[in-house]
Amino acid sequence: MRALITGGAGFLGSHLCERLVASDWDVLCLDNLVTGLETNVAHLLNHPRFRIARQDVTRYIDVPGPVDFVLHFASPASPVDYLKLPIQTLKVGALGTHNTLGLALAKKAKYLLASTSECYGDPQVSPQPESYRGHVNPIGPRGVYDEAKRYAEAMTMAYHRAHDVDTRIARIFNTYGPRMRLNDGRALPNFVYQALTGQPLTVHGDGQQTRSFCYVSDLIEGIYRLMQSDEHEPVNLGNPQEITILEFAERIRALTGSNVPIVFKPLPEDDPKQRCPDITKARRILHWEPEVSLDEGLPRTLEFFRREVAASRAR
Ligand code: UDP
Repeated sequence: MRALITGGAGFLGSHLCERLVASDWDVLCLDNLVTGLETNVAHLLNHPRFRIARQDVTRYIDVPGPVDFVLHFASPASPVDYLKLPIQTLKVGALGTHNTLGLALAKKAKYLLASTSECYGDPQVSPQPESYRGHVNPIGPRGVYDEAKRYAEAMTMAYHRAHDVDTRIARIFNTYGPRMRLNDGRALPNFVYQALTGQPLTVHGDGQQTRSFCYVSDLIEGIYRLMQSDEHEPVNLGNPQEITILEFAERIRALTGSNVPIVFKPLPEDDPKQRCPDITKARRILHWEPEVSLDEGLPRTLEFFRREVAASRAR
C-alpha cells in the first residue's frame, strides 16, 4: 500500500509519515518546505519505503505509479505562520485540496483531509460538536486559514458526492509534541522558549481564553483509525481536557523550574475565547480517545525543546 502525504515534513505530517512507514506503508512525502523542515524526516530518508519530493501542491501534482491513500496535511497552521503567509494559506487550502482530490480520483485512492477546529471560528457553543456550524469572521486575519479549510471541507464532500471519492475529514484541535517549530509563534513553543531563555512569558489578553491540548501520538492514532473507517463527514480529533492559557503558562513555567514573570500582551484579533472538542463521535465510531495527559506529554515535549534551544544557541 502506498500513501502520499502532503506537508509530510511538517509537525503532524512527519509523525504521520513515521507511523505509516512503521505500519508497512510505502510513503511519498510532498512538501515545499515553507513551514516544514527536512530535519523532521531526516531519520526516514534512508528507509527503503520512504521518499520525499520537494513540491508545491498548489500546482499540478504528477505522481507516477499507484497511490492508495492521499493525506492532505500541507498548510501553514500556526496563527503567526498563516498571518505571514496569507495567500499561500488560502491557495494550499483551496488549490492544494483540489489538486490532491483530483489525484485521488485519478488514482482511485482513498483521501483524508486535515481540517481544523478553526472551522468553528470563535465558537459560541462549547464544547464544539461536529454539527456546530461555526462563528468565523471571513475577512479577519484568521479568515485566510479558517475559510481555506472550510472551502477544503466543502470541496472534499463535493468530490465524495460527485465523483464517489472515498474521503474522510479530520477536524484537528490544538496538538503539541516534539517537532513543533520553536519559532512557530504558538503558545507552547513561545512559553517554553521564553522560560528556557529567561524571558517573561507573553500571555495574550487576560489569559482566560481556553484551549485543549492533545499530545501528538494520540492525534496520530486518531488519524490512523479514521483512515480505516468509512466515515465521510467530519470527525473532531483532540483532547477534551480544557485549560486557560494563563494556567497553561503557569504549568510550563513550573515544569521548566523557571521563575520568570508573566506579562500580558494584547489579544490578537478574532482570537477564539474558548476551544474544546466534543469527541463523542470519535469515541463512538473510532473507539478512540486521548490517553496522554498534559502531565505526561508536557515533560516529553520539554525534553525536545531543551535540545532545540541548545542547538539554536550553538548555531
Ligand atoms: N498565546 C499567548 N501567548 C503567546 C502565543 C499565544 O497567550 O505567546 C495565546 C493565543 O493568543 C491563543 C492561545 O494562546 O489565545 C493559543 O494560541 P496558539 O497560537 O497556540 O494557537 P490557536 O489555538 O490560537 O490556533
